[in-house]
Amino acid sequence: MLLLELLLVKEGVIITTRKVLLTGDRPSGQLHLGHYVGSLKNRLQLQDSGDYDCFVLIADVQALTDNFDNPQKVRDNVYEVALDYLAVGLDPTRTTICIQSLMPALPELTVYYLNLVTVARLQRNPTTKTEIAQKGFKASIPAGFLCYPVSQAADITFCKAHVVPVGEDQLPHLEQTREIVRSFNSIYGEVLVEPEALIPSSAGSRRLPGITGTDSKMSKSLGNGIYLADDKDTLWERIRQMYTDPGHLRVEDPGQIEGNVVFTYLDVFGTDTAYIAQLKEHYQRGGLGDMKVKKYLFEVLDAELAPIRERRLEHAKDPGAVLEMLREGTKAANEVANATLREVRAAMKIDYFG
Ligand code: ATP
Ligand code: MG
Repeated sequence: MLLLELLLVKEGVIITTRKVLLTGDRPSGQLHLGHYVGSLKNRLQLQDSGDYDCFVLIADVQALTDNFDNPQKVRDNVYEVALDYLAVGLDPTRTTICIQSLMPALPELTVYYLNLVTVARLQRNPTTKTEIAQKGFKASIPAGFLCYPVSQAADITFCKAHVVPVGEDQLPHLEQTREIVRSFNSIYGEVLVEPEALIPSSAGSRRLPGITGTDSKMSKSLGNGIYLADDKDTLWERIRQMYTDPGHLRVEDPGQIEGNVVFTYLDVFGTDTAYIAQLKEHYQRGGLGDMKVKKYLFEVLDAELAPIRERRLEHAKDPGAVLEMLREGTKAANEVANATLREVRAAMKIDYFG
């Protein structure tokens, strides 16, 4: 099937005929607008270009590093994230969608990579640092959480990915993977591929803020999101609560655009740039109320989300088909991961019986 067409696994060695894309999401909640502009849109573009072998991984092992006490949440969201994928247009005939915990090569690769990383290096990772502060771990950081960037290196390298479409928060993790690959290749020989991050061109899409405006980004774990699955009423409710300019008390007051989440979203999602420029000018001059701008943002977002919502409802009618798609994808991904693992073992001289 797809796999054989795209990747040749010959005598345990993967020969890639084309570029490989890998990325993933933690099943810690449903996917939101940050995922959509930060990563999903880029994956779709590369998937649809036909030039890439695409792998998308549902990172349940990673989600458990900070949700180990809530396994039902992680389990339920594996299915929700899969539905979100199908809803936005990831196509299982062109993208292999797999479940991290069902791929035994990944923890094995992680163990080998852990030797190539120092604890101090993991503690310096700015994204991990921010997350540790947000989650209030203080001195009780689960070892698995601190090390998740290493397991992410296993995720990225199992298929020898060249490109990883991600939001800006992932850049430190990508750098960590690149360091591991360089270190592995220099000690054991050229086996792994150094991946490149693919991030969106606009700052708003690279790190979409949450609706409260105070957190560093929209995030499932922070509860500040607009979700792809939100119905029309929920969408409006979330836009209604959105942070604007706290100094803009009366309609006639001049308002601020900078840090005003409604305008950030219009810059990211709006297409009528002339009208948005006009709204901005009016808002700054005074005389334009927040509600009017929010209603326009609602129109813009609803137009983008309505078809996604509809496709999601359609796929949700057949949960068995979604699970089957995940089973097939994981099986195909395991073949690739096991082939890489064989190469890794040989390079590390632990392939004792040939
Ligand atoms: P969690 O809070 O559990 O970490 P999350 O909302 O940060 O969840 P992830 O699953 O960690 O989502 O991220 C999946 C992908 O989506 C990554 O590539 C990440 O960079 C991207 N992403 C997540 N949030 C945003 C955002 N607000 N803006 C741009 N990209 C984002
Ligand atoms: Mg995250």
